[in-house]
Amino acid sequence: MTKEQVKKEIEQLRKEINDANYKYYVLAKPDISDFEFDKKLEKLAKLEKEFPEFDDPNSPTHHVGGQAVSTFKEVKHKYPMLSLDKSYHLEDIKKWYDNILNSTNDSVSFCVELKYDGVSLSNQYLNKKLVQSLTRGNGIIGDDVTQNAKQIRTIPKELKCQDLPNEIFARGEVMITKEQFQKINTSQQQKGENTYISARNLAAGTLKLLNPKIVTERKLDFIAYYLLGENLPINTQYDALKKLESCGFFVPHAYIKATNFKEITNFIEEWEVKRFEFPYDTDGIVIKLNEFKYYNKLGYTAKAPRWAIAFKFPATQKLTKLIDVKFQVGRTGKVTPVAILEPVKLDDSIIQHATLHNEDFIKKLDLHQNDYVFLERAGGVIPQIVKVDLTKRKPNSKPIKFIDHCPVCNTPLIKIGADYYCQDTTNCSPKLKSQLAHFAGRNAMDIKGLGLETINLLVDKDFVNNILDIYNLTKEDLLKLEGFSDKSAQNLIKSIQKSKKQPFEKVLNALGIRYVGENTAKILANHFNSIDNLINAKAEDIASIKGIGSTIAKSVKSYFSDPKNIQMIERLKEEGLQFKRKKETQNLDNKLNGKHFVVSGKFKNFSRQGIKNSIQQHGGIVTESVSKNTDYLLIGEKPGPSKMEKAKKYGIHIIDENTYLKMIA
Ligand code: AMP
Repeated sequence: MTKEQVKKEIEQLRKEINDANYKYYVLAKPDISDFEFDKKLEKLAKLEKEFPEFDDPNSPTHHVGGQAVSTFKEVKHKYPMLSLDKSYHLEDIKKWYDNILNSTNDSVSFCVELKYDGVSLSNQYLNKKLVQSLTRGNGIIGDDVTQNAKQIRTIPKELKCQDLPNEIFARGEVMITKEQFQKINTSQQQKGENTYISARNLAAGTLKLLNPKIVTERKLDFIAYYLLGENLPINTQYDALKKLESCGFFVPHAYIKATNFKEITNFIEEWEVKRFEFPYDTDGIVIKLNEFKYYNKLGYTAKAPRWAIAFKFPATQKLTKLIDVKFQVGRTGKVTPVAILEPVKLDDSIIQHATLHNEDFIKKLDLHQNDYVFLERAGGVIPQIVKVDLTKRKPNSKPIKFIDHCPVCNTPLIKIGADYYCQDTTNCSPKLKSQLAHFAGRNAMDIKGLGLETINLLVDKDFVNNILDIYNLTKEDLLKLEGFSDKSAQNLIKSIQKSKKQPFEKVLNALGIRYVGENTAKILANHFNSIDNLINAKAEDIASIKGIGSTIAKSVKSYFSDPKNIQMIERLKEEGLQFKRKKETQNLDNKLNGKHFVVSGKFKNFSRQGIKNSIQQHGGIVTESVSKNTDYLLIGEKPGPSKMEKAKKYGIHIIDENTYLKMIA
């Protein structure tokens, strides 16, 4: 293939992949299989690797995973990002409506849209390419979260539409579906980590994560509702939404062009009910004057445009009685208080319990036994107790007290930060069950067939009392459990045996050390090579590793200071689990001391993978694209021009192979 042919092929693949993404994520109508999609992506990645000069930061190969950013650059918005005036009362909306009619003196129309309760984001496109995504910030200056925005599949990286000016801004709301929000919270709970209060908080937190890979996993969406730019070929908000749609964006699921107030109130009434079945949180309806020509004349207040207003749905509050407070134990031993309530219908579902988070939350509410409490849906999803009805409190009712012993195994609880923990690792069954589920999980020991249901049976029937017992299970044991056939029992035993081959970093994650998840385990495994090195490391050495810090270091030291954990590790070693990295990936030395490298071009003494391995073996970290975090761009022959350009822009050291060889000599 000539260079020209390669370039063409790369462009064609990018187009097909972008198109497939659009059909899959925006239209929800994929027309190629996942397998075909993956093949295309693989082929593109291969070509980009072989011909780095054709690499492009906007290529779909860079959208999944990506470069970690350490801080967010603050950038001034070209057009300020304002809020909306809002009201819970239709009378106010009517006043605003009449005002608009009076000030425009014309037969105007209105664009009436769902109001999404998420986080606003402004995306700048130059020549149809996404170049920058900013959060609202203070409205004048926002944070540059482009790296993370690129992980959001419903933000097109390249616009599909025609006849737009060179520079446009597509603004909208970053969202997470209610379903995805609940999934993430369930998984947080299983990991014994804090849950998020609303989908909006989760979306906001996710946009500010430093690791774009997690952003990808969280599956955010983007709903566009403003199109900005000079000399736009459209005159109304309604047409702007249509245009955004044709560019490849999701726009509000429901929007209408209204020509009288009745049409507006009909839409509000319809969505006041429908919103509960809607996959995203909506907290109201936005009414915008449709015709742009009046916008300048109507102008802006300090906070909001005068040509738009939001009607907010009332937050539903219900009063109910506190029956009891139960204390649940999670995988890390964290004890969470849960209010048991007299069942009450809140919006569309019956609520019988609500989390009380921790001791401080109970104290702040000043919750007493048998109190009557107001329940509200935070962010439209999770029911929360917001206050106590003091008029209904019985004179002698006692304040709710946090327990000081584990409700399951009676071990004294230990307070760490705002939370209490049960430190018992052997007798505490809920803790044990979720620990085992984590151990067997896909990102840990990957024991297929050992899900929570089977774990419940195994623990309840006393077949498994700790991690080690998993490796002593026999087919005969399993056949004694409900639902196991000869075949499924045999398969589970096979996958238990197979798990012994899981690499060290997975085993380290499987141990369930607090704060040591998948990524941290990887960093620790890369740095220390073996569990013995990690056990013997000093807290300060662990804390000084890039991406670790003192909280994780303390947690690691505390885990290994428990002789029971050391004993278990010794026994697991005897079972044949991997507590060392394989020779070929082990570190030779730490000459590159956690420095971040990006490689580009062809090398004389190494293959492309070879030089990456070499960097890692000397304690360096290899990443795919150049960012402010990069320490060195290591170039061979014909390096990628965009990497070179970025490295120069950020003032990153550009070194050649000879310099590299000297560094590791
Ligand atoms: P609030 O967050 O309650 O102050 O409401 C104002 C915010 O609603 C705006 O800043 C936008 O981020 C958001 N919003 C959600 N949906 C829309 C929409 N369809 N049009 C305009 N703004 C919207």
